[in-house]
Amino acid sequence: MKLENLESKVLVIDVTNLNVREEKVKGILGPISWGLHCHLEKYESFKYDVFDEHNVLCAGIGKLAGSVIPGTQRLVFTFRSPITGGFYISSLGGGGIPLLALGIDYLVVEGRAREPVVVLLKNLGKGVEAAFEPLPREELFRIYREYRGEIGVYALERYLLEKYRDQYLYDGRYVTFRIYCVGPAAWSTRYGMIFSSVIRNGEIDVGAEDFAGRGGAGSVLARCHNVVAMLIGGVESKRTFPASDLRDVKVTDDVFNSVMGKPMSKAAFDATVKYRYDPSVGSGGTFGVNMSTLKEKSVLFNWKSIYLGKEERLRLWESLIRDHYLKQFNEEIIANKPKTFKTCGEPCPAVCKKVWGKYKKDYEPYAALGSFIGIFDQREAEKVVHTADALGYDAIYIGQVIAWVFECLEKGLLTPKDLGLDKVPCIDPENYRIEYSSMNAELAIKVLEGIAYALNDVYKVLGDGARRAAYILEEKFKDRVAKVGTRFRDLLVYTPYGKDGDMLPTMYWAPGNVMPIPIQGKYLTVYHTEFAEPEEFAQKCFTRAIKELYSEEGGLCRFHRGWGEKVLPKLIEVGYGVKVNMDEHCRELLKKIAEYNVKAGASVCFWDSRRTIDYVFTAAKEVGFTTWFEKYRRDPEATAREYWERFYSKYTELLGVKF
Ligand code: SF4
Repeated sequence: MKLENLESKVLVIDVTNLNVREEKVKGILGPISWGLHCHLEKYESFKYDVFDEHNVLCAGIGKLAGSVIPGTQRLVFTFRSPITGGFYISSLGGGGIPLLALGIDYLVVEGRAREPVVVLLKNLGKGVEAAFEPLPREELFRIYREYRGEIGVYALERYLLEKYRDQYLYDGRYVTFRIYCVGPAAWSTRYGMIFSSVIRNGEIDVGAEDFAGRGGAGSVLARCHNVVAMLIGGVESKRTFPASDLRDVKVTDDVFNSVMGKPMSKAAFDATVKYRYDPSVGSGGTFGVNMSTLKEKSVLFNWKSIYLGKEERLRLWESLIRDHYLKQFNEEIIANKPKTFKTCGEPCPAVCKKVWGKYKKDYEPYAALGSFIGIFDQREAEKVVHTADALGYDAIYIGQVIAWVFECLEKGLLTPKDLGLDKVPCIDPENYRIEYSSMNAELAIKVLEGIAYALNDVYKVLGDGARRAAYILEEKFKDRVAKVGTRFRDLLVYTPYGKDGDMLPTMYWAPGNVMPIPIQGKYLTVYHTEFAEPEEFAQKCFTRAIKELYSEEGGLCRFHRGWGEKVLPKLIEVGYGVKVNMDEHCRELLKKIAEYNVKAGASVCFWDSRRTIDYVFTAAKEVGFTTWFEKYRRDPEATAREYWERFYSKYTELLGVKF
């Protein structure tokens, strides 16, 4: 079969008219293709304000969902990011299973409800049934403040569960369903996430929750469509594969054996060592392995670690992380495996979720809202991460906003009074003591609440995104900027998009994280401490983006990319009889994303923050590119511009389009 004949089922959720309709589309290979089709052609969202209802929220599963292959049941959201202004992707582990129950491949939320609404979707053997239940804003915010002892999304999920659980009764038993919902930050900021939990046997499966964090998908759901939550589930519905049945292990084993020389279970097991438990490291999961191996390259104190010598960085890692933050994690979670290891909700040998009580410990949130803001104690970090999750933030983004606010307070660009605080935090590597973890946690929680509930004008500005906020605060506090001699933006690391969009990087000291590419903030780049001549580096970042898109378009968990990038095209061919050149296909997707961004006014532009430039060239020195480092020391601006332009020029040549 040719790709253009491949048929998929779509559910259109019209929240203006409170109804759903089913449609069929042809030639859409995966959720990224679906999102681009909607945003570029069907709804042309680039023509409208980012919070217009035309900014539809698209979601979808990959073509391998419903098979026996682990890591294939992901739900991938696409939308126009309120942060970057461009096309964006964010996904949830196990989140695709409910779409299988509905018997659909993709969905799209269109229109805007007159008042906040909860969307209930189910298939109890009679096809898709939909209901729309209003939840007035005052009541919603009362629930966010507290319900059954919980706050934010945890309060809301409890409320929704109690109110609607019985809608999911079938034959006297509860079918499995998921709640996808937003927290208060989705309504007040541009970087709200979508929270999702699994409801099994009528109860919350604690630890199997996940977040579509990056890019502001939650803000799109709330502010463009007035949707509070979607509940989706139903009786198990088997997906059919038109060519060969990928639900049959014999079929999938044949493919894995032919491509990788080992059966599927072995390939998946081998590819996910880091995420389960790596004996060579003595830890497991993203937190355990990254915190063990990053060592002197760990990112601390709002990036201030990049200015320290190697020995000093190593000393900080040893005393604060190895001997405390990581030690606690290993003693509490790794030593108690396997009962502290969970999956995201789908059967998977990686069991990547490392759980302590109700807290799930992943690297990015526990770095962003832990070590990065001067918290090296698990109990304190748990409080902060849990509050940030509950309030519905993208943890990586808000962690960097808080770290930035902390440094602005230290420097006197902001005062405690501006934020209703009674003291100044400490993220100064020279004077830092581990006991400051609790003070920093207490202040971080106040800032989290201040932004989520827009408690004053400064908090309101901070919710608008880091770069926008920096520009506004520089105007508002001109005198302080002059006195301190540093602009607000110069304490931030970000990739600028358009006139005021940005993306704050993942928690690595990685020049690839701020290079001018169509999508930043995820892993579609080189995201470790690497550097190269700009043309070579552009090639590396480009190649990585193409390969990462295999996972996004395939609806595959990227923790399985070790086999996914090799076997995915063959599996699609065997299951559907469709032969796809994935490299070429993903290159086209990236090109379309770039074209979309240009139309939406979210083109890349030159770094306009000093710390971003420092972040790039200190990393260059770290990995031995001393010539570039010396050049930058002599003339930072000109060196950065030369590097940026040469990188961009090569990348556009590879992509075949300017962006
Ligand atoms: S690696 Fe983790 S997130 Fe990915 S499918 Fe497995 S359990 Fe889910």
